[in-house]
Amino acid sequence: MGEDIKLGHVAGFPLRLHWSVLVVLWLFTWSLASYTLPVDAPGHAPATYWLAGLGGAVVFLGSILAHELAHAVVARRCGVKVKSLTLWMFGGIAIFGSTPKTPGKDFRIAAAGPATSLALAAVFAGVAAGLDAFGVAHIAVSAGWWLSGINLLIALFNLLPGAPLDGGRILRAYLWRRNGDFTRAALGAARTGRGIAFGLLALGLFQFLVGYGMGGLWMVFIGWFLLTAARAEEADVLARQALAGVRVADVMSANPHTGPGRLTVDAFIERYVLGHQHSAYPVERSDGGIDGLITLAQLRAVPRVERATTSVRDIAIPLADVPTATPDQPLSELLEHLSPATGGRVLVFDNGGLVGIVTPADIARTIEIRDLSVPPPAAEHHR
Ligand SMILES: [Zn+2]
Repeated sequence: MGEDIKLGHVAGFPLRLHWSVLVVLWLFTWSLASYTLPVDAPGHAPATYWLAGLGGAVVFLGSILAHELAHAVVARRCGVKVKSLTLWMFGGIAIFGSTPKTPGKDFRIAAAGPATSLALAAVFAGVAAGLDAFGVAHIAVSAGWWLSGINLLIALFNLLPGAPLDGGRILRAYLWRRNGDFTRAALGAARTGRGIAFGLLALGLFQFLVGYGMGGLWMVFIGWFLLTAARAEEADVLARQALAGVRVADVMSANPHTGPGRLTVDAFIERYVLGHQHSAYPVERSDGGIDGLITLAQLRAVPRVERATTSVRDIAIPLADVPTATPDQPLSELLEHLSPATGGRVLVFDNGGLVGIVTPADIARTIEIRDLSVPPPAAEHHR
């Protein structure tokens, strides 16, 4: 997501904030300050309600972060790479760099989030009851109960048994353990996810039509988001299946055209880009080694007046940021390492030398061709 604000690291994980979090922060502050708290604990000044509302909304975001952090910490312990944690309008997303290796690990990573939300619900309920017992102002007690309730709601919602929700992952782990087939389990979880999404969409639409207003509309948004995510997950699983048994060497473009990084952008465009059909070039050092990757988009982004004075090396993506592979690697492994920075391109090295490049078009073409030749999923299961 391009609109993410990078907030640094939490427990070693890169934390990002999507701008839509501000909408949520405002929405919860507003609803707490102008409705929930004044109704439950009347008699305070408006400023007090707004302050307590803002406090409650911030702690709520902290609760979401704790939920995602729990997924990430358990994932790391299970040997699954965590790319980033992002907070946005509908909660949090932990982006994993790989899939768990066993159903048990799959289950533990999925269950960690809802378990944390349930624990937080219990803690906030305890705090609220304690504050009440000690006679603290009722507005604080009320905010405590609200936090307990919303964490309970988050736990229960996320336990709905359809991917990409946590409950869907738990379902996937269960099916995987029962049938021993990850692909089939993942497809099952994605399909129930689609069903749940349709259910939420219909319910939200119904609520909106009978006059629930915002609440119904919110549910429609969530249903629509889940539907998109469940479909993407299904497509991803099918793609992996189509790629089963394909090696990087089978799809890569061998011996890609490279260009020297010392050239200016002007000279590079003239000598290498014009007349070729490539959308990216591995960049060469003077000793012949590969330094990085330059894309047409990057060349185009250099203003015309600066093209004679900018060297390709200065704007190329450094090799450390370019996903790489070996010819013998299964192609499906690459899907987990594609990077938007390189437009999904991967450089293939063998014994330290560049031997090929894989582009998203190569992968898409392979999937389409395999689709034509591979029997439908159901026939493939009992091997
Ligand atoms: Zn979760």
